[in-house]
Order: sequence, then C-alpha cells, then structure tokens
Amino acid sequence: MHIVILGAPGAGKGTQADILCQELDLPHIASGDLFRQALEKKTELGLLAKSYMERGELGPSEIAIKMILERISLPDCVSGCVFDGFPRTLEQAEALDKALAEQGKSIDKAIYIQVPRKELVKRLSGRRICRSCQTPYHLMAAPPRVAGKCDKCGGDLYQRPDDKEETVKERLKVFFALTLPIVDYYKKQEKLIEVNGNLGIQNVAEKIISVLKPFVITEL
Ligand code: AMP
Repeated sequence: MHIVILGAPGAGKGTQADILCQELDLPHIASGDLFRQALEKKTELGLLAKSYMERGELGPSEIAIKMILERISLPDCVSGCVFDGFPRTLEQAEALDKALAEQGKSIDKAIYIQVPRKELVKRLSGRRICRSCQTPYHLMAAPPRVAGKCDKCGGDLYQRPDDKEETVKERLKVFFALTLPIVDYYKKQEKLIEVNGNLGIQNVAEKIISVLKPFVITEL
C-alpha cells in the first residue's frame, strides 16, 4: 500500500503519518527529514538544499526525487510506505507515479488534510520537534510530559529555524502556489480523500483510518 499525505505546513502531516504507519505497519517517508538528515551529514545534496530550506522555498525537485527514490528502494519499503511532504509539485507527483509504475506499483490513496490558514500559522509557531526521533509536539496543543524533552526517546526538543514567522509565510505561499495543484492531480485519478484537519489529533486520525479501512481490507 502506498499512501500520500498532503497538506500545508502545519496541517499535521507528520503526526498523522506516524499514527497511520503504526496502524498499517508501514515505513514513514518524510522528504523534509531526508533533507534535514542530508544537511546534518553535510552531504553535497544537503548543502545544496540548505539555502532553499532556510528561505522556506522548495529544494530542487531533482534532489527531492533522487532522495525519495533511493529511500523507497530500501527493503523496508517493499510492501509500501506513507509519503509525507512528497510529492510537493506536479513534476514530483508524475516522477513518483512513473517510478512506481516501473515496479508494477502505484499510489493507492492521497489524503489531503485541510486546515484554515490562520490556524496553520498558530500551529507552526508553537511546534517543537525532537532532535533525535523527529516526533512533533506543540507547546499548547500537544506538549511533552517534561518540558523540552521527547516523551518517546528523551531527546531534546527544538524549534525548526523554518518555523519562524517570516519563513512560515513563505512556506505557506509556496504550498498554495505549487503543491495545491497536486490535490487535483489525485482527484482526477480518483485517489483523493479529503479530511478536515481541524478536529484534534485523535479525531483526525480516526477519520483517516476509517476512510482507509475498506481499501486496506481490499488490498489484503
Ligand atoms: P518539511 O519538513 O516537509 O516542511 O520540509 C522542510 C523543507 O525541506 C521544505 O521547506 C523544503 O525546503 C524542503 N523539502 C521537503 N520536501 C521537499 C520536496 N518534496 N521538494 C522540494 N523541497 C522539499
């Protein structure tokens, strides 16, 4: 099963992808994490993408596509995965479809988590991420049990530099201009599931799982 999670920055893609991956026992493939790992390791691709990330712009698509295709060629993705943050442009969506088709595979469903713009800004400014395992928290809506520490692994929490106000504005602009057209792309393929992302983490997760269940059972 291959599932794409779509949504603006702050819509809860990472949180919902995590829950879904546990439910379906699939790996969580987050392109933003791949970019950040490449940057931390100071690889050529990571350094190339650095300035784009700092400005809240998309990195070059060929880098994103290369990293994702490499990642999904690893054995843990053999029976599928949940994509988070990828594809982000029509070019990436088409490249992903092509690469999967070459292996006789395809995207099964794309889930679009919708959240009003005002709420997105509020969420991003309170977001904190675990430096070790990338689990997201929110200072108000989903605080950790111990301030500044991850509930899962005890790692330090930090604010992503691109969650600062100015960069957030740019990231939202980029989403509505370049990524939103993908919603239509999957709608035309009759793969789109739209979910109200403004209902609280558990309610959104239950909604996603309940709409996916009939398809998962068919797959099995
Ligand atoms: P995210 O963690 O998904 O918000 O991604 C953080 C940053 O990584 C983005 O603002 C982009 O600069 C870069 N990035 C992540 N995924 C992609 C992608 N699919 N295509 C291009 N750039 C990406």
